[in-house]
Amino acid sequence: MATEAIAREFTREDAATLDRRDPLARLREQFLLPEGLIYLDGNSLGALPKAVPQRIERTVRQEWGEGLIRSWRSEAQWMQLPKRIGAKIAPLIGAGADEAIVTDSTSVNLFKLLAAALALQRQRGRRVILSEGGNFPTDLYIAQGARDFLAGTPELRAVPTEGLVDAMSHDVAVLTLTHVDFRTGYRHDLDGLTAAAHRHGILTLWDLSHSTGIVPLALNRAGVDLAIGCGYKYLNGGPGAPAYLYVRRELQEQLRQPLAGWIGHRQPFAFETSYAPAEGIARMLCGTPTVLSMAALDAALDLWDGVSLADIRAKSVALTELFIRLVEAAGLAEVELASPRDPERRGGQVCFRHPEAYAVVQALIAQHVIGDFRAPDVMRFGLAPPYLRYVDVYDAVQRLVGIVCGRQWDKPEFRQRGAVEVT
Ligand SMILES: *Cc1c(COP(=O)(O)O)cnc(C)c1O
Repeated sequence: MATEAIAREFTREDAATLDRRDPLARLREQFLLPEGLIYLDGNSLGALPKAVPQRIERTVRQEWGEGLIRSWRSEAQWMQLPKRIGAKIAPLIGAGADEAIVTDSTSVNLFKLLAAALALQRQRGRRVILSEGGNFPTDLYIAQGARDFLAGTPELRAVPTEGLVDAMSHDVAVLTLTHVDFRTGYRHDLDGLTAAAHRHGILTLWDLSHSTGIVPLALNRAGVDLAIGCGYKYLNGGPGAPAYLYVRRELQEQLRQPLAGWIGHRQPFAFETSYAPAEGIARMLCGTPTVLSMAALDAALDLWDGVSLADIRAKSVALTELFIRLVEAAGLAEVELASPRDPERRGGQVCFRHPEAYAVVQALIAQHVIGDFRAPDVMRFGLAPPYLRYVDVYDAVQRLVGIVCGRQWDKPEFRQRGAVEVT
């Protein structure tokens, strides 16, 4: 009741005061954001950093146009991009510079690491993949593919969240989970589940797509074995940006991955006829680096120089708390919180259920607030601290409340379903 009263009295001026005190406020200037738009989809496709178009221009015109093939090895060092960008991601996930590398897509990296973990564990008589039924679809599909295509993997055990620890038996090879749930923002206890898995001799493979750049991560401290994550969400690497993968240092020499392409070879340019994996994490590479998209991600990552992830997390909690309080203070009959109420169990997004969630989200977009819809009835709002202000949250909630109270969503054009709904 007390918090409701506080929220009811909270004004736009109060939000502006929070913005003036925000230690991250300066970061917003480093993005190119459309005037008047409130962008609440930074968890799906991050906004465009100002540094990216300049970098793409340089990479295309100078490095490619003039340097041509020399740029693989000259100053541009194209061949080094996967490692160099991986080293920029490493501090964001609590890993050593030689434990992260940028390559391929999240889905492909999951397959490579899952297969590598299964091959290692098979020698120890462990053959089961353990995951949860609500995992992100690509994670489940890739695990199903691995089960069906890799010899001797009889089972994908996908259980409810509460059943994970009980399902950790002596036959489980690898536990693969998404740290922050794409639909609700539910955040797993990464440390606790990793420790429990290790007590049972199980390797852990975390999908950090909805965590990297928003939730402080300490993979080394937690002893995480393997991880993957996305470059285009909170890392702002651009549509279809390359993904990254992490392999704990001690495991690197023990793992072999199935997509044994030439760039992961010990000596790619010796053109030998048989495969020998590169030393360290480079063995997880497959083919030629996608230079143009890597250049975009590389430039986007410079934003994190000198940024404290503790500040990012503090603002993320403050923004999500404010969003929830303002919505709940409005007392909307049909709107129900779908994210965990405890910020400790939440990532960087807030979600609400509404029976007409799809139409409500369309009506919001018409009022220049971009959020998204997840079937069957979830409205999802990803709040990216580097470029979102407290006044944006205030204004977005005002419009949401207006749309729901005034049934402004109830129009044919807002009920019409479109074709693309990206993660
Ligand atoms: C966004 C996301 C992906 C993306 O996979 P792609 O291969 O880039 O399409 C994978 N897993 C999770 C949990 C995600 O949120």
